Amino acid sequence: MALENDNDLKELIRKAVLLNAVSHNGKAQAGAVAGKILGERQDLRSKVKELSDVINAIVNEVNSLSFSEQKAIVNENWPETQKREKAEEKRLPPLPNADKYPLIVTRFSPNPDCVLHLGSARAILLSHEYARMYNGKFILRFEDTDPKVKRPSLIFYDSIRQDLNWLGCKVDEEYIQSDRLPIYYEYTTQLIAEGNAYVCQCQPEDFRKKILAKQPCPCRNLNAVDQLKLWKRMLGGEFEEGQAVVRVKTDLDHANPAVRDWPALRIIDAQKYPHPRVGSKYIVWPLYNLAAGLDDHLMGVTHIIRGKEHYTNMIRQRYMYQHLGWEYPEAIHYGRLKITGAFLSKSKIIQGVKDGTYTGYDDPRLGTFAALRKRGITPEAIKKMIIDIGPKPNDITLSWDNLYAYNRKILDASSNRYFFVPEPFELKVLGVPKTFHAKLPLHPENPERGFREYTVAPEGKDLAVSFWVSGKDAESMETGKIVRFMELFNVKIDDKTANLITATFASESYEEARKIKAQPIQWVLKGTEFQCQVVMPDAKVTEGFAESACKKLNPDVIIQFERFGFTRIDEVNQKMVTYYAHK
Ligand SMILES: [Zn+2]
Repeated sequence: MALENDNDLKELIRKAVLLNAVSHNGKAQAGAVAGKILGERQDLRSKVKELSDVINAIVNEVNSLSFSEQKAIVNENWPETQKREKAEEKRLPPLPNADKYPLIVTRFSPNPDCVLHLGSARAILLSHEYARMYNGKFILRFEDTDPKVKRPSLIFYDSIRQDLNWLGCKVDEEYIQSDRLPIYYEYTTQLIAEGNAYVCQCQPEDFRKKILAKQPCPCRNLNAVDQLKLWKRMLGGEFEEGQAVVRVKTDLDHANPAVRDWPALRIIDAQKYPHPRVGSKYIVWPLYNLAAGLDDHLMGVTHIIRGKEHYTNMIRQRYMYQHLGWEYPEAIHYGRLKITGAFLSKSKIIQGVKDGTYTGYDDPRLGTFAALRKRGITPEAIKKMIIDIGPKPNDITLSWDNLYAYNRKILDASSNRYFFVPEPFELKVLGVPKTFHAKLPLHPENPERGFREYTVAPEGKDLAVSFWVSGKDAESMETGKIVRFMELFNVKIDDKTANLITATFASESYEEARKIKAQPIQWVLKGTEFQCQVVMPDAKVTEGFAESACKKLNPDVIIQFERFGFTRIDEVNQKMVTYYAHK
């Protein structure tokens, strides 16, 4: 029967074309459909030409429909295919009381005292995703009000912006707290004037004793007028570091002593510790709860999404909100996300970069976004992982392998394949009967992406061709055994010396290699090799040869070296340097 009269087959093709169209924004691709049909119906392999005529006709017909018409047909006839796709795309649970607010506003508020690392991924991606989910606003707020201990550095403001950009998080508004000191002073004045905050001149030890006993320190009961005078003197530079702090009044009976009359502003020696942005302009600096607490309200933040280590801060800040007559935003506290084996300590990262232990903030051993980017870990993988975990309050421990699994799924579909032989070893094949034209697909499931092509021509009277194979493969080769050169031919190992393996041509067919379970190996034609260094996650370098097609690749592209792993190209010049992602 001619294929064009085979109605069952045409129905099968029509389904494949429609599904393909729906997953490609309305435009089905004939090549992909042909691959799928041939995969299911091997009997059609002898009728490829006829088949492709039938497919092309159906593709034209389907592509002339609108996208929504296509989707409607698919949903009516094969709803199960669409449901599955939707279930895979996991969504975040709804925000609490979202409909109470006309505009959902979230924020990410880092201290620019270091580059960002995987430990911040949850705060960033959840806050950003929720803002997008509700067509809301995502704020980036630099919390840089500690020029002494957690000292910000100018380079980190920019690296943080770059990291957010790389993660695909669009910032709708940006604020820098060191620009906002007059605002914090203004609200502090109000709090003091209304008797809700006070200047405390106690020695820390004396204050601690009082507060543990749930008693007010002597400063607390001074009247507001005198408090305001002290506050003016504080701002005027009459006190030195440690001589005075402003405290916000709370319930002195609160169960947690760390909540009672928490410190809101303190003095920092501005000459000794100038701020990288505003220099020695200010000597009174707000502490975390005052600055973050005021800003969340003033910036209209509706939902604070942060780690549960901030829970006590919420209790503290609620007192200030009460004093000011404000309503506290919705707060979601998620659990700790631990990545086993990841270097996430800020102080160790900074110290290691300074003393040369690490090559930079993007050293592959680090868990910084800069390092992940360099290694070819995609922002999509990080995002997918974080959204799958969601904002759960329980602690979660992940391994690098969890992240790699997400990344592999993305890269497996997107990365082109190439050959790389680490620690190369020479292998000479004799008796190659003819010139072979090797045609290696850039991607096994997507032949439309093209091929790498090599001419393998025998030379001399013994019809010899020389190759490079990986050192590991060379080591495991046994004389008498057959090895499959991928997409080329099969050879029999004859002899091994310290620096050369000799083999003879055995046969061409892949079927034969499969029958005898010959190991398929990657290869590079000797004389066409391209020197390549792969920087591994432990920062050690694997040397080897890549195939010559790699000379045309560009930096930043992520490829798969077959049987070796995914790797991101860092530089292509006289040689190639790549960074290893994972298997
Ligand atoms: Zn006091």
